[in-house]
Formats: sequence, structure tokens, C-alpha cells
Amino acid sequence: MLRDQDRIFTNLYGQGDFGLAGARARGDWDGTKAILEKGRDWIIDETKKSGLRGRGGAGFSTGMKWSFMPKTSDRPHYLVVNADEGEPGTCKDREIMRHDPHKLVEGCLIASFAIGAKACYIYIRGEFWSEGNNLQRAIDEAYEAGLIGKNACGSGWDFDLYLHRGAGAYICGEETALIESIEGRKGQPRLKPPFPAGAGLYGLPTTVNNVESIAVVPTILRRGAEWFAGIGRPNNTGTKLFCISGHVNTPCTVEEEMGIPLKDLIEKHCGGVRGGWDNLLAVIPGGSSVPVLPKTTCDTVLMDFDSLRAERSGLGTAAVIVMDKSTDIVKAIARLSKFYMHESCGQCTPCREGTGWMWRVMERMVKGQADIGEIDMLEEVSRQIEGHTICALGDAAAWPVQGLIRHFRPEMEKRIRDRQGVAAQAAE
Ligand code: NAD
Ligand code: SF4
Repeated sequence: MLRDQDRIFTNLYGQGDFGLAGARARGDWDGTKAILEKGRDWIIDETKKSGLRGRGGAGFSTGMKWSFMPKTSDRPHYLVVNADEGEPGTCKDREIMRHDPHKLVEGCLIASFAIGAKACYIYIRGEFWSEGNNLQRAIDEAYEAGLIGKNACGSGWDFDLYLHRGAGAYICGEETALIESIEGRKGQPRLKPPFPAGAGLYGLPTTVNNVESIAVVPTILRRGAEWFAGIGRPNNTGTKLFCISGHVNTPCTVEEEMGIPLKDLIEKHCGGVRGGWDNLLAVIPGGSSVPVLPKTTCDTVLMDFDSLRAERSGLGTAAVIVMDKSTDIVKAIARLSKFYMHESCGQCTPCREGTGWMWRVMERMVKGQADIGEIDMLEEVSRQIEGHTICALGDAAAWPVQGLIRHFRPEMEKRIRDRQGVAAQAAE
């Protein structure tokens, strides 16, 4: 369990003032100038040493990503913060912007300085209206106090921060679609490479980071990389926000150490599974894009990137969706298939056609109106989508279906056999 003194998001539950006075009382903006004076290389090295891996879902090393930005360049550089939190089940960045926005604003200044960016855009999900207002207030306060703007914090570095509201498309959370959207175009992903560090916003060197990744940076640099690296497990370090929803007694967003057992997370912070642990059917451990896990795996699995990958799932956004035995698991995954079909931008054929195809077959699977052989065909189609598309939405659509077949095939077959039995009886 994470010790109270190791918590970064000390106002996660909104008990204090989210404004500048409250943030300063909690230690934000303390010694920011001194951090900047240590220089770009020190900030990037320290962030690498902390082991911080991107909190948006992919888990790519944050310090490494910053090091991809050109060191000497007379072209403008940009930081773009991805606050378009749209992954079903995910509501952690929302809490940061609602209750602790100054951590993000301070992190934007430090990260931008580290990558040589004098401007940063925070792209916030349009539905986060009041969170956007809180964040804008924090930005205004930081400007008024001289913490950002010309000569930010008295460091000699000029830095501007802009809030950009999205308009409700899930795909705009994909980093290159997000960049297209800021540029005023339809939010459709670009082919990578080139990665944004080479050609990003307006074709210029850009780093895109998640809200949580940026908001933890000031505390890491104040307390030291060793402190952060000492929490969690090797290669999976630090504290992490988990958002737990579904069939638990008290759904919540909580900060815990990486690698906490899933069972502890649910029992200690959410009052347990509705009806007790034995009533658990399955958990989606990292937002809707990662494969579902059956109870037997949930009994022991640890909540970090590598442990969940070893179980052929993923930490993703650390959005834990708990399903008890009352859940129609085939219907639940079919609903996700519908979501991905709806959110596909339509650029690439395997995703545009495949997501619709999978959803239609899944709908028949829910009712048992399919042949047993179609389960294999469904899996085969999902493999044709996975890895064959421009962006990760194709994989995200394929993986839940693959997870269902891997762990709940008997349930799918039983449904088809039951239906065939009913049809045969009716024909007699
Ligand atoms: P990705 O692995 O393609 O990239 C991760 C990051 O690393 C990107 O910023 C990318 O530019 C960078 N990167 C990777 N390889 C690089 C290289 N060789 N050189 C330079 N930069 C490199 O993953 P992704 O498509 O950005 O994200 C997928 C994840 O997003 C999924 O795992 C899912 O969990 C998550 N997701 C999150 C949300 C949300 O609301 N937070 C929504 C949907 C999906
Ligand atoms: Fe668009 Fe889907 Fe292709 Fe991504 S994978 S670019 S969402 S069609």
C-alpha cells in the first residue's frame, strides 16, 4: 500500500482549494525556478532515472520521449498535453484537472523547458466543461503571479500555455489526430513515422504527453528520481492513479503504488466486489482497449505494465472495470465492439470494415444466432485488423474480442448450442 507521505495528488478528493493559494500550501510551485536552473539535460535525465512511463496507456518512457526532441534547433518546438480522456472507464485526468490543476500547469512549464518549447497546448475533452474552467483559472492565476508567461518564474524563459477544447470525438485522443484537430482539420490519425518529435504540430518538433505524466513531473524533480523509482516494481515504478468502476461497492479514483495486487486495489479501496470476491466474473484492467481477464487471473495479478502484459492484457489507462457474475460478458464485449465501430474514423479498410463486421457477428453471438465455426472466423478477422491499421484504434477494437474468445469461449459455444437446441425442439 502507498504511504500517505508518498502521495502526489494530495487534493485528489477535492478537500482543499484547487486555486493557487491552496496549491502553494500543498507544495506546488516550490523551487520551480531552481529546477529550471538545473538545465534541460538534468530534467530529462532525472525523469529517465525515475522510470516514469507514459500514463496515457502506452507506457512509453517519458524521459526517453523528451530526449527525441532536437537539441539545437532554430525552429519552434511544442508541448501538447493530451487531456482528451475518452477511454471508456477512464476518469483520472479529469480528477487532476478538477482538483489539482496547478500540478499540471507547473508540469507544463517544466516539461516545455526541457524540450525547448516556448508554447504548450492542452487539448481537453469538450465534455470536461467545468474541469476546463478550473484549469483555465489555474492558467490565469499562474500568468498573474508571473509563474508562466514572459520570464516564467524569473527564469528568463518565456512560456505560453493555451487551453484548447475538443468537440467529442474519441479518435481525437490519438496523438496525431489530436494534432490535426488543433490545426483546425478533421481529427484523423497520421501515419507514424514520422513521430511527432520529428514532425508534429504545424510540422514542427512536438512532444505529446498525457495529463498524469506531466502532472507528476514537478514532484518527481523536487523529491528526486530515486524516491519515485523506489515505489512500485522494477521497470514499473512510481505511484499511479487507478479508476475503478462497475460492480464494486464504492467505485473511486485512487492513487496507489504500481504493482499493487488487483485484489487489494478492489478490496481496500472499493469496499470489495458486489456480493463478495467469489461473485467476481471478470475484470477489464486498463480501459476498454485491453483484453478482459477471468477471475482466476484476477486472484493474483499485479497492476502494472509488465505483469498485465504477461497475462496478455495491459495496464492501459489503469481504468479497472469490474464485472460480477450477473454480467452478460458476451453482451458487454459486443457493446465495446459497437463503440469502436462508431468511433472509427474510417480512413483504413481493416478498421472501417472490420469493426462493423465484428460488431454484427458479436450481436449474433449475444443471441446465440451463429455457428460454432464462426467463433474461429471472428478471431481470424480480429487478427486481420490487429497491426494492420494506421492507428491503435484497430488493435483496441480487436483485443477485447480476442480476450473474450480466449477466456469465455465455452460461454459463447454454450449460447450457440442452447439456441440450436431450442430451434431443433421447435422443429420437431
Ligand atoms: P504508441 O505505442 O504508438 O505510442 C506511445 C507514445 O510513444 C507516442 O507518443 C509515440 O509518439 C511515442 N513513440 C513510440 N515509438 C516511438 C519512436 N520509435 N520514436 C518516437 N516516439 C515514439 O501508442 P499510442 O497509439 O500513442 O497509444 C495507445 C494507447 O493509448 C493504448 O494502449 C490505450 O491504452 C491508450 N488510450 C488511452 C486513452 C485515454 O483516454 N487516455 C484513449 C484511448 C487509448
Ligand atoms: Fe481511423 Fe481506424 Fe484507421 Fe485509426 S485504425 S486511422 S480510427 S480507420
